[in-house]
Amino acid sequence: MNIGVLALQGSVAEHLKMITSINKKYGAIPVKTIDELAAVDGLIIPGGESTTLRKLMDVFNLYTPVRERIVAGMPVWGTCAGLILLADRIEGERQYLGLLDVDVKRNAYGRQLDSFVDEGDFDDIYIRRVFIRAPVITRVGEGVTVLSECNGAPVAVRQGNILATTFHPEMTPRDNRVHKYFCSMIESRE
Ligand code: GLN
Repeated sequence: MNIGVLALQGSVAEHLKMITSINKKYGAIPVKTIDELAAVDGLIIPGGESTTLRKLMDVFNLYTPVRERIVAGMPVWGTCAGLILLADRIEGERQYLGLLDVDVKRNAYGRQLDSFVDEGDFDDIYIRRVFIRAPVITRVGEGVTVLSECNGAPVAVRQGNILATTFHPEMTPRDNRVHKYFCSMIESRE
């Protein structure tokens, strides 16, 4: 099984390392081209800067192929900027992929709390969560399951084949359980 990480900008190497740490049966593939995209069974859209990522996806002609794969059911996981790209509504900006029924507000924690680490539940596990200039999810649609919350606001959500986290599980290298959760989404599809 091959898991791709969109490799245009952001925390690509960290995600690839996490995937290879799980099990040899999972190949971790950086995805920059349509051919590489065709070779993967699931895709991680990493954190970075969403404004840059959306421009680069356009330049690399990946917008339509990525969107079509997700619509066709390929499991996808957006972390932080990746979540922003998946969201239906982005406050003050036009949507990009618009496939996840949530509203988000970018850089919404304000200066003092810009970046922070805490701990909390994720599905049925308890994890450390690293937030880096994270967005806040201000609304979730009916078909969206909240997997993790911070101060009453959702920070991890799932809608069918789409997983999205406002925090960065690739930044806690000793704990690959959220990556395992994503791999199990791909396994259960196959
Ligand atoms: N602040 C970034 C944005 O708005 C996201 C930060 C991140 O991905 N760590 O795109």
